[in-house]
Amino acid sequence: MLTTDKFRQSARVAINDSQLQTAIQRATSRANEGRETMMDETTNRAALRQQARDARLRGLRDLPELLEQAEAAIQAMGGKVLWALDTAEANKHVLNICRQHKLKRGVKSKSMVTEEIQLLSALKTAGIEMIETDLGEFIVQVSGDHPSHITMPVMHLTKERIRDVLMEKDGMPYAETAEDITAYARQRLRQAYLEADFGVTGGNFIIAETGHVITVTNEGNGRLTTTIPPVHIAIVGIEKIIPTWADFITLVQLLTRSATGQRLSVYVNAINAPSPAIDGAQHFYLILLDNGRSDIYASEYVESLACIRCGACLNTCPVYQSIGGHVYDSVYPGPIGSIITPLLYGKKNASPLPFASSLCGACKSACPVDINIPDMLLRLRQDLQAEQGNLWRIGMAGFGFGIRHPLLYRTGVALAKRLTSKNTLPRPFQGWTDERDFPGFAQQTFRDWWQKHHK
Ligand code: SF4
Repeated sequence: MLTTDKFRQSARVAINDSQLQTAIQRATSRANEGRETMMDETTNRAALRQQARDARLRGLRDLPELLEQAEAAIQAMGGKVLWALDTAEANKHVLNICRQHKLKRGVKSKSMVTEEIQLLSALKTAGIEMIETDLGEFIVQVSGDHPSHITMPVMHLTKERIRDVLMEKDGMPYAETAEDITAYARQRLRQAYLEADFGVTGGNFIIAETGHVITVTNEGNGRLTTTIPPVHIAIVGIEKIIPTWADFITLVQLLTRSATGQRLSVYVNAINAPSPAIDGAQHFYLILLDNGRSDIYASEYVESLACIRCGACLNTCPVYQSIGGHVYDSVYPGPIGSIITPLLYGKKNASPLPFASSLCGACKSACPVDINIPDMLLRLRQDLQAEQGNLWRIGMAGFGFGIRHPLLYRTGVALAKRLTSKNTLPRPFQGWTDERDFPGFAQQTFRDWWQKHHK
């Protein structure tokens, strides 16, 4: 559970961490510049954005039918589709597949959903080894850290820090340049693909008309993960469905421009079936994960499901730029994470997040599908305040009881005088007075004065 105290404490640490500040500053400004350059290049930026938004909203509008269409297409091609209501069921499906095919060693390409279901820890408990193959995720795994960004998992680390981590924890020889570090990881991971008996991926989109699961990557690890091992398991959130290939053409242009400042990423993989005769896996499974998405779908926050996880709103957010991703204490940090996290994990468990925004609107401007993030953050604040309103009513009822009982009232006033004598509030309300004065209770109350002067 993320409390306001915990959020503030971690934010203070992050703001005072000069290495972290350098890393965030470098990465976000590079990403923002790249995005702007690439978006400016499009012939009609506003129209393309509207087209992308329409594609996502049509996908959401027809979500149940499109998912069934994709399921039928995959099954017709010899793949298997499994539905997972929650984290436990998704992990159970993966473990069942591992048991059925006697799988012991896997490789995984980058996927936020597998972070969400904590797949690695479920596999480890079952004695199954899994190696991350995305360079950033590999560094996260070696260092025992967590990703701090949707698309740049180690954006919180400088090159020098990454070198130190790999030398200390993975036995890497001294490496001077980023290219040397990459060459080490490449060498190290190449063997893992050859030894793996299954590969796990996420999916950026599922195209309903043919059932293709699309992965958009730059390192080629996604392609190796899906083609070398005999079993491929894709785990994808149900909201990733889009109706047609034409929609994909629109969305992929905006995804790569917004995420990495590229016209198109180096690899785009589309898989809807086992294909051992060509270069694919012998068995293909798609696990469709709900894990709270149906509840969001049925709520006023349905628009948040249109997110294509490009990370642009994180890069442009002044709060994220100041504190980085770990302070959000969630797989999904930044502005969109401040909406998704309370909705997926319960508003009370992430109550500071909707307030971690200046509501400047930079996130909405940067979002390639024009999600109204500030509006949803405001609505979440109202929801949380309405819940706290109940606390206010309970407090007032307690006060009413107190003033009807003189002894209790006098004790309460004496206590309040002591606790507020320094113009601050005591725990657990002290956060409010960290930045403000609280006018303390009068040391001499009217009642005291009256008794003294009108005996
Ligand atoms: S909310 Fe928009 S900008 Fe943020 S990650 Fe999702 S698609 Fe990208």
